[in-house]
This record gives sequence, C-alpha cells and structure tokens, in this order.
Amino acid sequence: MDPVKSSDELSKPAPAAPPAAPAPAPYHWNRAMDAALDEARAALDSGDVPVGAVVLDADGAIVARGRNMRERHLDPSSHAEVEALRAAARALGRWNLDGCTLVVTLEPCPMCAGAAVSAHVSRIVFGAWDAKMGACGSVWDIPRDPHVGAFPEVYGGVRGEECSRLLRASFRTLRS
Ligand code: ZN
Repeated sequence: MDPVKSSDELSKPAPAAPPAAPAPAPYHWNRAMDAALDEARAALDSGDVPVGAVVLDADGAIVARGRNMRERHLDPSSHAEVEALRAAARALGRWNLDGCTLVVTLEPCPMCAGAAVSAHVSRIVFGAWDAKMGACGSVWDIPRDPHVGAFPEVYGGVRGEECSRLLRASFRTLRS
C-alpha cells in the first residue's frame, strides 16, 4: 500500500460546506455583525480592503474589535481576525479564547482560520463567502480538518449580501 496516502484517504469526499446560518441570525450575532461592518468601513476609510471582525465572550458581549490594516501598517498579517483575536486576548488576559465567538465580515483565509483555531475559539461566524481564499468551507476547511484537532462551530453567510456589497463597492473605490 502507498505509505503516504491510503486508499481510504484518496476516496475521502471533499468537505461539505458549513451549515448555513439559522434564520434569523441570533440577536447578538446581528449586533456583532453591525460592529464588524463598522470596522470594515473604517478599514476602507484608511485605504484598506474593508474587512472587520469582533470577538464575543461566552455571554455574547463584544470584548474586542479589529479591522484589516494591511496597507495602513504595511503588515501582511494585519487581517481583521488576527487584530481582533489579539485584542481579545489582551482584554481577557488570556490567549485561550475558549467559549468566545469570532464574528467577521468575510470568510477567514487560511492564516486567520489557523489563528482562530490556535486561539481555541468555540465558534466562527462570517458574512461573505470567499471563493478565492476562504478557509472555512470554500477552498479549504481548516476548522474541520481532522489533522487540526480543534473543531469550532462555523456559520457562514450571516448577512452575507451586505458584507459582499461593501467589498464589491470597495474594489471599485480602491481601483479608482
Ligand atoms: Zn485572513
């Protein structure tokens, strides 16, 4: 038998898309997505692609916010999720964010999905799907990769249309 891949692995089906958000989204997710969209608009104002994120504690209270500041800080790792996770760790005084929910306007990329899993968040809620770089079900599925060993719940498409509209508008603005 091939020592690298068993026939079992080769015939493994592609990961299924994460469950759609229950409709309507819980009240605190809506409130969190409002705050994340505010962060995304602030990112756009400073010349960055508008992606915003917040972290909720186990009671649903917003404990941290973050936005994409890659251009502003000339930092390739300054994505909204990483900024929000760092701020949450500072606010709570612990890196382990077990019980927390990461809410973000765009499906996390591999780096951010990895950061969320490393932080042990219990839940990832996102708005727009990202067919190019999405790592929560679109292109990769890091939260449910059996090699990772941590399995946060994932809910995609929460107010997705609003989040993608902002991104589409920004591509026109940032290009001009
Ligand atoms: Zn990212």
